[in-house]
Amino acid sequence: MKTHKNIKFFVGIVLFLAVVLNAATYSPEQVQRVVNEAYTKYKGDMGGKNADYIKALARVDSKIFGIVLVDKKGNIYKAGDVKSRVSIQSISKVFTLALVMSERGSNFVQKKIGVNATGLAFNSIIAIELHGGSASNPFVNAGAIQTTSWVKAKESKERWVKISANMSAFAGRKLTLNDEVYDSELNDNKRNQAIAKLLDAYGRMGSNPLEATTVYTRQCSMNVSAKDLAVMSATIANHGINPLTKQRVINAKYTPKIMAVMATAGLYDNAGDWLYDTGLPAKSGVGGGIIAVVPGEFGIGVVSPPLDSYGNSVRAQLAIKYIVKKLHLNPLTK
Ligand code: GLU
Repeated sequence: MKTHKNIKFFVGIVLFLAVVLNAATYSPEQVQRVVNEAYTKYKGDMGGKNADYIKALARVDSKIFGIVLVDKKGNIYKAGDVKSRVSIQSISKVFTLALVMSERGSNFVQKKIGVNATGLAFNSIIAIELHGGSASNPFVNAGAIQTTSWVKAKESKERWVKISANMSAFAGRKLTLNDEVYDSELNDNKRNQAIAKLLDAYGRMGSNPLEATTVYTRQCSMNVSAKDLAVMSATIANHGINPLTKQRVINAKYTPKIMAVMATAGLYDNAGDWLYDTGLPAKSGVGGGIIAVVPGEFGIGVVSPPLDSYGNSVRAQLAIKYIVKKLHLNPLTK
């Protein structure tokens, strides 16, 4: 009988510890220490290679490496080069999705664009054909160009003003264009134009396909630092309120929808492995940035240009995985 009681007591202690260890019990000092550790541990890792299918991206300094966490109160934890700016690229797709969801609702996005993984490359044309003319989701190029085309605007300029103002509101400062990347990408844009024209043939575009592709290219060429990315991501983590400016940028009912798409298709063809390892909705871009959202707690932004074969920043993935593990941030373990 006594042994039975002892076992019960022991099991109780183990369960209590499991809950406590998984709960968010970190102090600000611990968070900063873990961010520093992640930086020091991976600083020298020069694996991967800058994207080069957009020529200007190959010229970006591969050594840039910055890590920033922003919590829901607006506290900032950082290490490394958190000020250097790179083009936001695919990460911009998250914020234009947010804009179109605000304007047209989440059902529109699900029905008109889709929220499923393609299982094919981010710039695949065959994926559109295989899915009966559907782009599948807003984070492959097809779905992103389509999303841009559905921003409510009478003409191109108005569309661009709304998209850039929206991204700036998420970042809490006026973002500016990386002209070199924009010019370079406009010259390397034929495939995206073809994708937009194909979607137009299926009646899926909200505006002229070439116009939408140009605005999309511009949105991908916005300059951001690791800090900008962390604030943008923290705005999603904080249910749509920017934790620095306190501005409500998107209705809280849409942030779970956005995170669901990030979890499904945020890291290209490696999204499943990423979710398996971290449990975090995230989005990467070929400029070398990754954002990850710890719902209700942190936004993480990391910049490091060299990419793996999937197109995801090598060091950014390593740093985020380290931080998630050390601070027990995987929401699926809660
Ligand atoms: N602007 C890039 C493109 O359209 C974005 C790609 C990316 O970051 O995945 O190819």
